[in-house]
Amino acid sequence: MVERIGFVGPGIMGRPMALNLLQAGYPVWVYARTPARAVSLAERGASLCPTPRDVGRAADIVITMVSDTSDVEEVLLGDDGVIAGMQEGGLVVDMSTIAPAATRRMAKRFAEQQIAMLDAPVSGGDVGARAGTLSIMVGGDADAYRRMLPLFEVMGSSIVHVGESGAGQVAKVCNQLVVAANIAASADALLFAKAAGVDPAKVREALLGGFAASKVLEVHGQRMLDRNFEPGFKLKLHQKDLRIALEAIADHGLELRCVEAVAAGIQEGVEAGWGEHDTSSVLRVLEGHNGIELA
Ligand code: NAP
Repeated sequence: MVERIGFVGPGIMGRPMALNLLQAGYPVWVYARTPARAVSLAERGASLCPTPRDVGRAADIVITMVSDTSDVEEVLLGDDGVIAGMQEGGLVVDMSTIAPAATRRMAKRFAEQQIAMLDAPVSGGDVGARAGTLSIMVGGDADAYRRMLPLFEVMGSSIVHVGESGAGQVAKVCNQLVVAANIAASADALLFAKAAGVDPAKVREALLGGFAASKVLEVHGQRMLDRNFEPGFKLKLHQKDLRIALEAIADHGLELRCVEAVAAGIQEGVEAGWGEHDTSSVLRVLEGHNGIELA
């Protein structure tokens, strides 16, 4: 039996992920708060629903890809949420980046209605979402994971069942600690090259061959060189991820170093009005402080 798939949140990430599922032959029901965002999916055969509740009613498995913890709570547990429509035996898979503690609470709430829930945040950006090469970090029950695996394999190329409920979001916090530091370090390096009178594009090329190589330097480094701040990954979502990380770190009584410095830079970028722009905008914060431009 082909599973009927529900999808809530066809944004920069969700739209290509849903499209890949349609192209793999799955029937897909979509809820888009801004209906215009789902037009291209409807043109390829997706059915549009007026509420997340209707998505829950139509589908066996519902995937959510919205913004923040409160958004996931609203589309899953609100009056018109997925939980109000979904049958016993259903599966909810939240692929947004949200707080680990909140995902565990939601999974418990769904379990009371015999509905399984996985947390399955991703890394790989809009590029990976379109190519179906996301890294997917999964927390939750092993049977639910096995059920979802064929769909994960459509959307991603690295899929790891990290552990019980919440473990996927914990892995995503770790992912963001590394990615955030990497974006900030890439901006530092390219701007330093410029100040030192050396071509930053050549420096990027040289670094990509050694231990400093990273997907971030490759993708975001190029965006910085091009001064292309079209999102990508919105600076305000990056700020949200680091807020989640800092809260989770504090919950565990830890004091970590890099994340605090990077979060401060991102905060400045959002205050400067670049929240809807790509997170490569951290470069612009540095440029402002140092009085030089990369390009
Ligand atoms: P986005 O382009 O802003 O898309 C978010 C989508 O969720 C939009 O369609 C939005 O609707 C919808 N949404 C948000 N809150 C909602 C609510 N309360 N009710 C109904 N719909 C709601 O963001 P994105 O870049 O796709 O990111 C989605 C998630 O993936 C975030 O948690 C983000 O941190 C994570 N993520 C993003 C990237 C990346 O590179 N972009 C990479 C990895 C993970 P509207 O269109 O009406 O606003």
